[in-house]
Amino acid sequence: MRVLVVEDEVQLADAVARGLRREGMAVDIAYEGNEGYGKASIIRYDVIVLDRDLPGMSGDEMCRRLTEEGVLTRVIMLTASNTVSDKVAGLAIGADDYLTKPFAFAELVARVRALGRRTTPAAPPVLAAGDLILDPAKRTVTRSGRKIDLTRKEFGILETLLTAQGAVVSSEELLDRVWDEHADPFTTTVRVTMMTLRRKLGEPALIDTVVGAGYRIDPAALVAGAALRR
Ligand code: CA
Repeated sequence: MRVLVVEDEVQLADAVARGLRREGMAVDIAYEGNEGYGKASIIRYDVIVLDRDLPGMSGDEMCRRLTEEGVLTRVIMLTASNTVSDKVAGLAIGADDYLTKPFAFAELVARVRALGRRTTPAAPPVLAAGDLILDPAKRTVTRSGRKIDLTRKEFGILETLLTAQGAVVSSEELLDRVWDEHADPFTTTVRVTMMTLRRKLGEPALIDTVVGAGYRIDPAALVAGAALRR
């Protein structure tokens, strides 16, 4: 899941980003409204955590523009005030959810996760292929009941491929979904992470390489996984 945090209070922005990264999300930060709008226009984020009171472009204005442009990203607004009229105004301009400062971090994480799920409604709560089960909420992966420890990137790749349900996902798409903007697109990051991921998942292999196109979960394994869960 890829998230943009737009917040001018640097310490708060950094703390939120750190916390969301710990949850396995790829997080970018903008400390100013125009910068945030620029990023949101270029990169397809699943969720934007948007402070309402920002220098440059205000949170309201940014939200209004993104909605007008048909950007599908879900927006959760952070605000200092908690009056009903503020809340109604925020939702009216296209925010999907609303959180009043100060907030409990666990609450923010839960809301961001819920919004992220709404972006990809087809994703079932637990993803499976063959004897492999990935639980996005618990962030666990097991194969034949044996727990497999994955790094955040490895987990992100596996989650993206499983969500794609056997469709081919390109390296660029993986880089876009799993890495944040500091990733160097000219490195072999995806290939290297794919190698360690495959090694950890073991045999029989679950991830196919489709030459010149990308990667996919072996469709036969998906069928087996669906049967297993019934
Ligand atoms: Ca602010």
